Amino acid sequence: MAPHVLRKIPSVTELLESKPLRPLVERVSHNVVVSGVRGFLDELRADIGKSTNGGNLPDVTELAEKIARRILQGEQPSLRPVINASGILLHTGLGRAPLSQAALDELQLVAGGYASVELDLATGKRSQRMRAVEGLLCQLTGAEAALVVNNNAAATLLVLSALATGKEVIVSRGELIEIGGSYRLPDVMQASGARLHEVGTTNKTRVSDYEQAIGECTAALMRVHTSNYVVLGFTAAVSLEELVALGRRHQLPVIDDIGSGAVRDFGEYGITDEPVAGHSIQVGADLVLFSGDKLLGGPQCGIIVGRRALIERIAGHPLTRALRVGKLTLAALGATLRLHRDPAQANREIPLLQLLAAPLDNLKNRAERLAPQIAAAPAVAEAKAVEDEAFLGGGSVPNQRLATWCVALRPQQGSLDRMASELRSATPAIVGRLKADWLLLDLRTVMPGQDSQLVQGVLGVR
Ligand SMILES: *Cc1c(COP(=O)(O)O)cnc(C)c1O
Repeated sequence: MAPHVLRKIPSVTELLESKPLRPLVERVSHNVVVSGVRGFLDELRADIGKSTNGGNLPDVTELAEKIARRILQGEQPSLRPVINASGILLHTGLGRAPLSQAALDELQLVAGGYASVELDLATGKRSQRMRAVEGLLCQLTGAEAALVVNNNAAATLLVLSALATGKEVIVSRGELIEIGGSYRLPDVMQASGARLHEVGTTNKTRVSDYEQAIGECTAALMRVHTSNYVVLGFTAAVSLEELVALGRRHQLPVIDDIGSGAVRDFGEYGITDEPVAGHSIQVGADLVLFSGDKLLGGPQCGIIVGRRALIERIAGHPLTRALRVGKLTLAALGATLRLHRDPAQANREIPLLQLLAAPLDNLKNRAERLAPQIAAAPAVAEAKAVEDEAFLGGGSVPNQRLATWCVALRPQQGSLDRMASELRSATPAIVGRLKADWLLLDLRTVMPGQDSQLVQGVLGVR
C-alpha cells in the first residue's frame, strides 16, 4: 500500500510550478522555497512509511497550499510584538523593560555601522564607549569603577570565578534564591568553582553565624536580595552595615547582589523593598551587582560596580570575554543611564517608569472608558472596570504589589483559557492574566498609546 502511495507524491518541479508556490519563488527566494518543498516531502514520505496519514494523499494544489503556508510562517520575524496586559511590569517572558526612545535612537546610530566598543583584556582598560558607560554608572552609584556583562547571572558567575574559585563564599541560608527556574544561586556558585558556605537558617541569620564560618578558605561574604519572596514572622537578617564591618575586620570583600538595580528610591510608587545601588556603595559594599533590564529600564545586561582594584581583577579574567556585551547593549544602556541623571527626565522618558508612575486615577479612567468598548466585542459576554493589584516581577510569590485598574472580561462561549489563547494569537499579541472567573487586562502595564490596539485585538476574536 505504502509504495503505491509514495509513487503518487508530486515531484519538486511539479510543486514549484503550481499556482500557490510559483509566486513565492519570486517573493521569498528560490532556495528557501525549494528547501521548504523538500523538507515537507521528506516528512510526508516518513508519515506514509509509518502509515500515520491513513494512505490519503491530497492533490497537488492542496499540497502546494500547505507548503506555501508553512514557508510563509517561517518568514515571520521570530519575535512578535506583545501588548503586556498581564500586570507584571518586569515580565521575563516578555523581554522585561521596554526601551526609551533615546535608547532606540542611539541603537539606530550604531547598529548599521562600526562603533568604538573594544575592551582591552590584557590591561583591563575599557575603550572609549565602555568608559563613557562606566563613567555614567560611577556617577549614578558613587562607585569607583564599573563593568557590564551579559546579564546579572553572568555578573555573579564572573565575580565568583574571578575572586573565589577553589575558595569559599559565605551566604545566608535565607538568601539562596531561585529566579525564574533557570537561575539558582547555588548552581551558579558551583559553576564558578567557588564553594558555597551556607550559614544561619532559612528564617534567622546573625552576624556571629558569618563570623564563625570565616576561615582560611574564605574568599568573600555575599548578600543576595530576595527579589521574589519574603521571609515573614520569626526572622533575623544581617544588615549590609554589619556585613561590611565584618568584612573589613577580616579583610574580605563584600559582594551585594541587589537584583533589580534601582538607582534611586521608588518608594513614592509603592516599591518599598528594593535596595538602591548607590546606597549599597555608600554603606561600603565592595561590589554591587544588578540587572540592566529590571528597574533601570534598559537593555538586558548585568552591571558590576565597586572598587577599582577588584573591577580590574575581574575585567582581566578570561570569562569576561565570554560574557561581554555588544555595541547594541552599550548604546542602549548608555542612553538609558544618561536619562537617569535627571530623575524627572527619567520618569518622563523611560517606559518602565512611565508605567510605574501612572496615577491610579488615570488607570481608572482608561479602564472605565475601555470596558464598554470591549463589552461590545462579539466574543465578549461581559466586561467591567475593576480595581486590582499588579506586580513588579514575575516570580512565583511576588512581594511587590502595585495598585492598578483592569478591564475584567468573560467570554460569550468557551473557556477563559481559550479566550486568553485567542488574544495571544492576535496581532499584536495580547497577554492578560486570569483571576477567578475573569480574564483581566491590566492597564498598569499597557502603554496609553496601545489602548485602541487592545480594543481592536478583543474585537477581532471570533
Ligand atoms: C533577577 C535577579 C538575578 C538574575 O538576573 P538576570 O539579569 O536575569 O540574569 C540575580 N539575582 C537577583 C537578586 C535577581 O533579582
